[in-house]
Amino acid sequence: MSKIKVKNRIVEIDGDEMTRIMWKMVKDKLLFPFLDMDLEYYDLHLSKRDQTDDRITHDAAEAIKKYGVGVKCATITPDKGRVQEYNLKQMWKSPNGTIRAMLDGTVFRSPILVKNVKPAVKTWEKPIIIGRHAYGDVYKNAELAIPGPGKAEIVFTPADGGETRRMTVQDFDGPGILQGIHNLDASILSFAQACFTLAYDQKIDLWFSVKDTISKTYDARFREIFSHEYELNWKNKFKEANLTYFFTLIDDAVARVMKDKGGFLWACKNYDGDVMSDMVASAFGSLAMMTSVLVSPHGYFEYEAAHGTVQKHYYKHQSGEKTSTNSTALIFAWTGGLKKRGELDGTPEVVEFAKRLEESTIKTIENGIMTGDMARIAEPKPKRPVSTEEFIDVIASQL
Ligand code: NAP
Ligand code: MG
Repeated sequence: MSKIKVKNRIVEIDGDEMTRIMWKMVKDKLLFPFLDMDLEYYDLHLSKRDQTDDRITHDAAEAIKKYGVGVKCATITPDKGRVQEYNLKQMWKSPNGTIRAMLDGTVFRSPILVKNVKPAVKTWEKPIIIGRHAYGDVYKNAELAIPGPGKAEIVFTPADGGETRRMTVQDFDGPGILQGIHNLDASILSFAQACFTLAYDQKIDLWFSVKDTISKTYDARFREIFSHEYELNWKNKFKEANLTYFFTLIDDAVARVMKDKGGFLWACKNYDGDVMSDMVASAFGSLAMMTSVLVSPHGYFEYEAAHGTVQKHYYKHQSGEKTSTNSTALIFAWTGGLKKRGELDGTPEVVEFAKRLEESTIKTIENGIMTGDMARIAEPKPKRPVSTEEFIDVIASQL
């Protein structure tokens, strides 16, 4: 059989622990036997990041800017324990944070559905993708504990020497608490652009929700920026593709989501997205069935699994025990990247291959061949969960 040629390079970003073990298996058993592809390889193993003073992470992000499409394995974000474990020069920053900042991107998480795991919300038939604005609000706040009576104000002093503006927040007559938050027009716009880009790319409706009835300046600005971006750049495209941009209040959105079939992108403010993405992930099943894509408004895409390096399973693997770790989200990171590459290159056979690999993975699970995490929640239950390697082998033969 001749291999399918992938025309342009995909940026491959290798990672740590159990996901690194599965990453190699996926490439060796599910990709290289079928694809003739050139990869631009960056090894983000924690020791490599340490050796290069984290230059490798910056280089990987630059490569995604150059080639447009990246696929990333999970990586350790070091804490004190990891600094000791890997004898690190310093506590390097989260690679995902670095890459996200360099690409100016927004992260979208999307669940992979199989027939034998029913979502906790029984009306959900299609994935609900959550887009979380990852800048500002309560995550970059200023807080004060108020000890007793006094006046709390917000004050803005213009850099150009213009008139200072101030407003009373509260005249305290006893102890309390105070918080100041902010956001930036540029960041909100970039978030809006990433959301419209992804919804259009995947041909799904876009929902956006804030609380502008209560927050008439702050949340209202989010609504205005989204609405302006829609009118200016997407209205016609959405109409042609038969897609809807739907704005509603956050509480109305929550109520509707619980009764909807799914199959849309829900753009959320930072806090809403933090909370709702965990609710949606848990209601759909396993963390190992959740993919994640970083979309930059400049047209770069980076695909990965939403879960981490599965540390506990890795220690088991290292001590020679059999593991049962689910590679589905890692496989879908690759298929996401391949589909995008094929689309950009105009090579439908690459897109077709990626779709078949996705189907083979889903069919394998639906045929009752699954790892421990899925065996716990599937109906009917399989006789026994398969090992990490067996799962990939069965997908390969299915493929
Ligand atoms: P994790 O790797 O997501 O795993 C947490 C637990 O979820 C696992 O112990 C396992 O539960 C279950 N799980 C996750 N993925 C699974 C899979 N593919 N198959 C089966 N079960 C799966 O989170 P963590 O162990 O807290 O974090 C480990 C490291 O990952 C940390 O160093 C963190 O910095 C890093 N991390 C990286 C990323 C990223 O690169 N995107 C994201 C998050 C975390 P059971 O033990 O019950 O089987
Ligand atoms: Mg959260």
